[in-house]
Parts: sequence; structure tokens; C-alpha cells
Amino acid sequence: IFSLGKLQQCKALASESSPTIFSKIISKEIPADILYEDDQSLAFKDVNPVAPTHFLVIPKRQIPMLSQAKQSDSQLLGHLLSVAREVADKEGLTDGYRVVINNGKQGCQSVYHLHIHVLGGRQMTWPPG
Ligand code: 5GP
Repeated sequence: IFSLGKLQQCKALASESSPTIFSKIISKEIPADILYEDDQSLAFKDVNPVAPTHFLVIPKRQIPMLSQAKQSDSQLLGHLLSVAREVADKEGLTDGYRVVINNGKQGCQSVYHLHIHVLGGRQMTWPPG
């Protein structure tokens, strides 16, 4: 059955305005539970976790969404995945985890600052909603 509730949730949160709340997390204007930081990236716990472990990995430079990343962002995109793996290890996700990028409206993206979700600590199902 089609989930209207989830669709409404996506619409309610969607905003393509720039900068986003994540810029304030990077600048430490608003608090976040930071798990990893370097000059290019930041990983922090999702404020509304949908799994026992749920954190986000973001670039410090704002790329609004994956589909707007350029060829020249390839190193950065690879680095973000590498950070996701490193933090997943640090968080003890030894039985596996899911890595997700929501892109744009149909991808249900709500914050227009590229981010990788890492979800773990429970059995995932497929396909996603
Ligand atoms: P999206 O739906 O865009 O893929 O995911 C955005 C994620 O950012 C959501 O899972 C949401 O819970 C999380 N989020 C939104 N605002 C904040 C915030 O202020 N702090 C933290 N830690 N996470 C946030």
C-alpha cells in the first residue's frame, strides 16, 4: 500500500534553500553529537534516528545533492564513503549496515546539503519505502 504519510513527511521537510541547518552544525552554531571530523568532512548522529545506530557523513563544502556533484568532486565523494566505513567500524557495526543517499524530491531528500546516511544495529529490509 502506498504510504501517503511518508510522502507528506518528505514534502513537509523539503527545502532547497541554501545554506541549510548542516552549515550551522559545521560552524558549531548548533550542537550535534559529532563522531568524526577532518578538514573536508564531518560525521554526526542523526537527530531523528531510524535505526539503533544512525549517523550522517557530510562534506564541509556544501554540495546540495549528489546529482549536482561534479567530476572534480570525485575525491571528496570517495573520502565521504571512506569516512562512513571508518565511523561504522568505530561504532561497532560488525554485522553489517546500510549506506543511503537520498537525492532530490523523489529520493525523499529533506536537507539540501549532501549527506550519507549510515544505518545499523538492526536487520534491514528490502526494498526500502
Ligand atoms: P534526508 O531526508 O535529507 O536524506 O535526511 C536528512 C536527515 O537529517 C534526517 O534523517 C534528519 O533527521 C536529519 N536532521 C535534520 N536536521 C538535523 C539536525 O539539526 N541535527 C541532526 N543531527 N540531524 C538532523
